[in-house]
Amino acid sequence: MGRLLVVGSSNTDMILQVQNLPRPGETVLGGQFSTAPGGKGANQAVAAARAGADVSLVARVGRDSFGEQALAGFAGDGIDTRHCSVDDSAPSGVAQILVSAAGENCIGVAPGANATLAPRHLDSASEAFRKCAVVLLQLETPLATVERAAALGRDADAVVILNPAPACELPDSLYPLLDMITPNETEAEHLTGIRVTDESSAAAAARVLHKRGVTTVLITRGASGVYLSREAGQNAVTGESFPAFEVDAVDTTAAGDVFNGCLAAALTRGETLERCVRFAQAAAALSVQVLGAQTSAPDIAAIDAFFQ
Ligand code: ATP
Repeated sequence: MGRLLVVGSSNTDMILQVQNLPRPGETVLGGQFSTAPGGKGANQAVAAARAGADVSLVARVGRDSFGEQALAGFAGDGIDTRHCSVDDSAPSGVAQILVSAAGENCIGVAPGANATLAPRHLDSASEAFRKCAVVLLQLETPLATVERAAALGRDADAVVILNPAPACELPDSLYPLLDMITPNETEAEHLTGIRVTDESSAAAAARVLHKRGVTTVLITRGASGVYLSREAGQNAVTGESFPAFEVDAVDTTAAGDVFNGCLAAALTRGETLERCVRFAQAAAALSVQVLGAQTSAPDIAAIDAFFQ
């Protein structure tokens, strides 16, 4: 089994339940307050580790209690944190989340030390890049770092996956460094200008991404499943839809993170891409039945029991 290297963000989610979201200038008294580990890089690394992968994480936290708790949490999930670093001046990343009784939310993120994860911080992880089979990236850390990580992954002959979330403009030079890109429908539209609502619009968006240099495109479509598009030589493309598992969802937060982490985990085991997609979908279907982000990531025993 190969190793997975995740380069990405770590946040502490500070969640306050309120009856109604406040309007600008308004103060509302809240109900229950809780904190939870979050950040797309951390969520995906944790999901992958629970799904049985050997995971190393490159992330950056502040020298504060949030950072300490985050690092302890990663170690508790068996993640190699040797390449996580601590910033002496920037605080750990924080997401302030208000959730209304109707389930709407309003989120502000202070990236803190995530924004100081620079390309040079990848230098000390050069051995981890050389030893990994899969590199998994997102967009909550500086683009220059994402691009450098993709290049290092490519040099190491690893499978390089970018989950382009949150959506932003990407440099043309990044696409050819990627083996796979995994936008959701909104991110696919942001990247291609094509509104993804069904299989044919997903195929059209995927073709744009292929033209930019990515050979495998996976567009996640929530409860509508996943559209997989692959280049099959000389301008030929094959496309296939994978319906989602039918479950009663109670909280879809981080379904995408669980999907990406578990997809990468399955790829380290050298399974077929189809089987990796189904495995990741099974894990995501389990996660949407549980409240929370990292807390909802299932372990390998639960995934295996659900997905035979
Ligand atoms: P988020 O932003 O909430 O983390 P996302 O938008 O990145 O999620 P989605 O496309 O919503 O990602 O979900 C990823 C995968 O998780 C889907 O392709 C699907 O297989 C699974 N999934 C998501 N929602 C559901 C659901 N309600 N029921 C079953 N499976 C789901």
